[in-house]
Amino acid sequence: MERTLAIIKPDGTAARLIGEVIRRIEDEGLVIVAMRMELLSERKAEGFYFVHRHKPFFHSLVKFMTSGPVVLMVLEGDNAISRWRTLMGATDPRKADAGTIRRDLATDIERNVVHGSDGPDTAVYEINYFFKGDELCSGY
Ligand code: ATP
Ligand code: MG
Repeated sequence: MERTLAIIKPDGTAARLIGEVIRRIEDEGLVIVAMRMELLSERKAEGFYFVHRHKPFFHSLVKFMTSGPVVLMVLEGDNAISRWRTLMGATDPRKADAGTIRRDLATDIERNVVHGSDGPDTAVYEINYFFKGDELCSGY
Protein backbone atom coordinates (compact mmCIF):
# COMPACT_ATOMS: atom_id res chain seq x y z
CA MET A 1 0.00 0.00 0.00
CA GLU A 2 1.38 3.37 -1.05
CA ARG A 3 0.26 7.00 -0.96
CA THR A 4 0.88 9.85 -3.36
CA LEU A 5 -0.04 13.51 -3.65
CA ALA A 6 -2.26 14.50 -6.57
CA ILE A 7 -3.08 18.09 -7.53
CA ILE A 8 -5.62 19.34 -10.04
CA LYS A 9 -3.89 22.51 -11.20
CA PRO A 10 -5.57 25.90 -11.86
CA ASP A 11 -6.03 25.15 -15.58
CA GLY A 12 -7.95 22.01 -14.59
CA THR A 13 -10.25 23.77 -12.13
CA ALA A 14 -10.82 26.66 -14.60
CA ALA A 15 -11.80 24.19 -17.34
CA ARG A 16 -14.22 22.45 -14.92
CA LEU A 17 -12.24 19.22 -15.09
CA ILE A 18 -12.38 18.33 -11.38
CA GLY A 19 -15.05 15.69 -11.90
CA GLU A 20 -13.34 14.24 -14.98
CA VAL A 21 -10.00 13.84 -13.17
CA ILE A 22 -11.60 12.31 -10.08
CA ARG A 23 -13.60 9.90 -12.29
CA ARG A 24 -10.34 8.66 -13.84
CA ILE A 25 -8.69 8.28 -10.41
CA GLU A 26 -11.59 6.24 -9.03
CA ASP A 27 -11.97 4.15 -12.20
CA GLU A 28 -8.28 3.21 -11.82
CA GLY A 29 -9.07 1.90 -8.34
CA LEU A 30 -7.03 4.49 -6.47
CA VAL A 31 -8.72 5.64 -3.25
CA ILE A 32 -8.94 9.35 -2.36
CA VAL A 33 -8.12 9.50 1.37
CA ALA A 34 -7.81 13.30 1.67
CA MET A 35 -9.04 16.22 -0.45
CA ARG A 36 -9.15 20.02 -0.19
CA MET A 37 -9.55 22.99 -2.52
CA GLU A 38 -7.12 25.84 -1.97
CA LEU A 39 -5.91 29.06 -3.58
CA LEU A 40 -2.15 28.71 -3.08
CA SER A 41 -0.18 31.70 -1.86
CA GLU A 42 2.98 32.58 -3.76
CA ARG A 43 5.01 31.49 -0.75
CA LYS A 44 3.30 28.12 -0.55
CA ALA A 45 3.68 27.45 -4.29
CA GLU A 46 7.35 28.48 -4.21
CA GLY A 47 7.98 26.15 -1.28
CA PHE A 48 6.24 23.29 -3.02
CA TYR A 49 8.34 23.71 -6.18
CA PHE A 50 11.55 24.48 -4.26
CA VAL A 51 13.49 21.81 -6.24
CA HIS A 52 12.73 23.74 -9.44
CA ARG A 53 13.81 27.15 -8.05
CA HIS A 54 16.75 27.50 -10.46
CA LYS A 55 14.83 26.36 -13.55
CA PRO A 56 14.01 28.97 -16.20
CA PHE A 57 10.28 28.19 -15.92
CA PHE A 58 10.12 28.58 -12.11
CA HIS A 59 8.55 32.07 -11.89
CA SER A 60 6.06 31.33 -14.63
CA LEU A 61 5.17 28.05 -12.90
CA VAL A 62 4.55 29.78 -9.56
CA LYS A 63 2.45 32.44 -11.28
CA PHE A 64 0.40 29.74 -12.99
CA MET A 65 -0.03 27.65 -9.83
CA THR A 66 -1.35 30.71 -7.91
CA SER A 67 -3.64 31.89 -10.74
CA GLY A 68 -6.68 29.99 -9.45
CA PRO A 69 -7.73 27.30 -7.03
CA VAL A 70 -6.14 23.87 -6.98
CA VAL A 71 -7.58 20.60 -5.67
CA LEU A 72 -5.16 18.78 -3.36
CA MET A 73 -5.65 15.05 -2.89
CA VAL A 74 -3.92 12.11 -1.28
CA LEU A 75 -4.38 8.89 -3.25
CA GLU A 76 -3.88 5.46 -1.74
CA GLY A 77 -3.39 2.02 -3.30
CA ASP A 78 -0.81 -0.56 -4.36
CA ASN A 79 1.87 1.26 -6.37
CA ALA A 80 -0.18 4.47 -6.12
CA ILE A 81 2.79 6.66 -7.13
CA SER A 82 3.47 5.01 -10.49
CA ARG A 83 -0.19 4.27 -11.22
CA TRP A 84 -1.10 7.95 -10.79
CA ARG A 85 1.85 9.05 -12.94
CA THR A 86 0.76 6.60 -15.64
CA LEU A 87 -2.77 8.04 -15.56
CA MET A 88 -1.33 11.58 -15.81
CA GLY A 89 0.97 10.91 -18.77
CA ALA A 90 4.23 12.67 -19.66
CA THR A 91 4.86 16.26 -18.50
CA ASP A 92 4.56 17.53 -22.09
CA PRO A 93 1.06 16.60 -23.32
CA ARG A 94 2.39 16.25 -26.88
CA LYS A 95 4.60 13.40 -25.65
CA ALA A 96 1.98 11.83 -23.40
CA ASP A 97 0.43 8.49 -24.32
CA ALA A 98 -3.09 8.38 -25.76
CA GLY A 99 -5.75 8.05 -23.08
CA THR A 100 -3.76 9.86 -20.40
CA ILE A 101 -5.10 12.94 -18.61
CA ARG A 102 -2.41 15.22 -20.03
CA ARG A 103 -2.77 13.95 -23.61
CA ASP A 104 -6.55 14.22 -23.51
CA LEU A 105 -7.01 17.41 -21.48
CA ALA A 106 -3.82 19.50 -21.12
CA THR A 107 -2.81 22.65 -23.02
CA ASP A 108 1.01 22.62 -22.94
CA ILE A 109 4.07 21.57 -20.90
CA GLU A 110 3.26 24.11 -18.15
CA ARG A 111 -0.54 24.03 -18.15
CA ASN A 112 -0.75 20.26 -17.81
CA VAL A 113 -3.82 19.87 -15.53
CA VAL A 114 -2.36 17.61 -12.84
CA HIS A 115 0.57 16.98 -10.53
CA GLY A 116 1.80 13.71 -9.04
CA SER A 117 4.63 12.85 -6.68
CA ASP A 118 7.59 11.28 -8.50
CA GLY A 119 8.84 8.85 -5.83
CA PRO A 120 8.33 7.54 -2.28
CA ASP A 121 10.41 10.26 -0.58
CA THR A 122 8.79 13.13 -2.49
CA ALA A 123 5.36 11.61 -1.86
CA VAL A 124 5.87 11.71 1.92
CA TYR A 125 7.30 15.23 1.73
CA GLU A 126 4.50 16.53 -0.50
CA ILE A 127 1.67 14.90 1.49
CA ASN A 128 3.04 16.41 4.71
CA TYR A 129 3.47 19.77 2.96
CA PHE A 130 -0.31 20.04 2.53
CA PHE A 131 -1.98 17.67 5.01
CA LYS A 132 -1.84 16.82 8.70
CA GLY A 133 -1.99 13.16 9.70
CA ASP A 134 -5.52 13.42 11.11
CA GLU A 135 -6.79 14.79 7.77
CA LEU A 136 -6.17 11.42 6.07
CA CYS A 137 -9.15 9.06 6.05
CA SER A 138 -7.36 5.81 5.37
CA GLY A 139 -8.95 2.38 5.08
CA TYR A 140 -12.63 3.14 4.38
P1 ATP B 1 4.46 17.52 -11.74
O1 ATP B 1 5.66 17.68 -10.85
O2 ATP B 1 3.60 18.74 -11.84
O3 ATP B 1 3.68 16.28 -11.45
P2 ATP B 1 6.21 16.47 -13.70
O4 ATP B 1 6.84 15.71 -12.58
O5 ATP B 1 5.74 15.72 -14.89
O6 ATP B 1 4.98 17.30 -13.22
P3 ATP B 1 8.36 18.38 -13.40
O7 ATP B 1 9.58 18.20 -14.20
O8 ATP B 1 8.38 18.01 -11.96
O9 ATP B 1 7.18 17.64 -14.17
O10 ATP B 1 7.90 19.89 -13.53
C1 ATP B 1 6.96 20.44 -12.64
C2 ATP B 1 5.98 21.26 -13.42
O11 ATP B 1 6.66 22.40 -13.97
C3 ATP B 1 5.36 20.58 -14.64
O12 ATP B 1 4.27 19.76 -14.32
C4 ATP B 1 4.94 21.75 -15.47
O13 ATP B 1 3.74 22.35 -15.00
C5 ATP B 1 6.11 22.72 -15.25
N1 ATP B 1 7.17 22.54 -16.25
C6 ATP B 1 8.05 21.52 -16.35
N2 ATP B 1 8.89 21.67 -17.37
C7 ATP B 1 8.53 22.85 -17.95
C8 ATP B 1 9.02 23.59 -19.07
N3 ATP B 1 10.05 23.16 -19.81
N4 ATP B 1 8.40 24.75 -19.36
C9 ATP B 1 7.38 25.22 -18.63
N5 ATP B 1 6.87 24.57 -17.56
C10 ATP B 1 7.44 23.41 -17.22
MG1 MG C 1 7.45 16.62 -10.74
